[in-house]
Amino acid sequence: MDELVAKIRKCRKCGLWRHATNPVLGEGNLNASVMIIGEAPGHSEDVEGRPFVGAAGKLLDKLLSRINLSRKEVYIGNIVKHRPPMNRDPRPDEIEACTPYLDRQIEIIKPKIIVPLGRHSAIYILSKVNIEARGGISEVRGKIYVDRRPNLLIRIMPTFHPAVALYNPKYRSILEEDFMKIKMELEKS
Ligand code: URA
Repeated sequence: MDELVAKIRKCRKCGLWRHATNPVLGEGNLNASVMIIGEAPGHSEDVEGRPFVGAAGKLLDKLLSRINLSRKEVYIGNIVKHRPPMNRDPRPDEIEACTPYLDRQIEIIKPKIIVPLGRHSAIYILSKVNIEARGGISEVRGKIYVDRRPNLLIRIMPTFHPAVALYNPKYRSILEEDFMKIKMELEKS
């Protein structure tokens, strides 16, 4: 992971680094059973160089604590490692340039469950198991998909990005329901 982190710090494969203050490499337990994957750093993350430290991150902490998990027990990463200007969506070329780092993070951590948060993250992670999330996140959220690799079986449970629940509280109970599934899958595995 240290080698990977050094590479990401120097990465110039897309233009996002030009506008960013700090790369957000990901953080948490390198032996985590649960890997949470967001979309891209926002303003607070860019300033601190840490994932999910803003308002959406506070909600993520609460969702985790409801299922008795802390940030230290899980690993939290993102699809792209530098903040897109004005928090715009990451572009396909930026996602393509950056995701080999995420793939390597997944190989190192070997989680039992990956939880993609939001559309971009779900589309990318599900593409690995040949699922096209065309109907968007609503179609795939809360469902369990399986990624079978040599000597490794990873479950994937996409859900909404916690930021949506900050604007529309009805999403909070859906997120709580989906996070409960993480707990149930961990108990099974
Ligand atoms: N939103 C994300 O998708 N990732 C972060 O790290 C913070 C907010």
